[in-house]
Amino acid sequence: MTRSPRSAAIVTGSARGIGAATARRLASDGFAVGVVDLDEKQCADTVSAIEADGGRALAVGADVSDAEQAQAAVTRVADELGPPQVLVNNAGVIRDNMLFKMSEQDWDSVMDVHLRGSFLMSRAAQKHMTEAGWGRIVNLSSTSALGNRGQANYSTAKAGLQGFTKTLAIELGKFGVTVNAIAPGFIATEMTAATAERVGMSFEDFKEAAIGSIPVGREGRPEDIANTVSFFVGEQAGFVSGQVIYVAGGPKA
Ligand code: NAP
Repeated sequence: MTRSPRSAAIVTGSARGIGAATARRLASDGFAVGVVDLDEKQCADTVSAIEADGGRALAVGADVSDAEQAQAAVTRVADELGPPQVLVNNAGVIRDNMLFKMSEQDWDSVMDVHLRGSFLMSRAAQKHMTEAGWGRIVNLSSTSALGNRGQANYSTAKAGLQGFTKTLAIELGKFGVTVNAIAPGFIATEMTAATAERVGMSFEDFKEAAIGSIPVGREGRPEDIANTVSFFVGEQAGFVSGQVIYVAGGPKA
């Protein structure tokens, strides 16, 4: 089986950052792309960029952690673009704090978006993939899965996504669906800019400090992750499933 010619891809959290670069990359790979983010209006820039490059895209507003909204987003993409055969679970939030200061709300909101959101979107999308006999799910983990000070919630969620990835790979493999995860290191986006602000550093100084511990000696860019998603989604990666690839300019950040 190969992917259907009219198949679509869904990238969650693709109004900006890694998700936006991934949506553009999958569009250039030939997919019509459902650009899903909390606020439909915020998706306009990604959709216009794809259309300007000659691709097809649809802005969809949805909170991935809400079961009804996740299902409605998948249904809308299927109705308006074609059956989603690729899903990139990229939407994310950080609510960093040391354990003794971390509120239940900080814990729950991180679990809700990363874990519950990836679960709900994957459960809704897998129907289209298994019916077609071909599909790809890529989950965004993080080097923080290995442990990171001030991120008990986030590192737990990102480690959880690795187990989720491996289990879906086992369950969905016989339907021609591969499931993999990417664990980025430091990527310059609004998320890392917010971290710089929280620790009281300028983003430039924060980036310089991060680059100091990255073996290839540069910051990560959203396109570095988009390229890796494109690899997992391609036909050539059909025998790669249940894997976690660290994209961090070295073995880990
Ligand atoms: P970002 O710039 O903060 O973008 C994340 C996007 O997700 C935002 O547009 C955000 O919308 C959206 N989002 C948040 N909650 C959502 C929800 N419930 N439903 C739908 N969309 C939602 O982040 P990024 O740096 O591109 O990161 C993308 C992914 O890579 C995340 O999963 C992140 O954890 C992971 N990652 C990033 C890095 C890094 O260094 N940047 C490293 C490792 C892993 P709003 O703007 O409206 O909140």
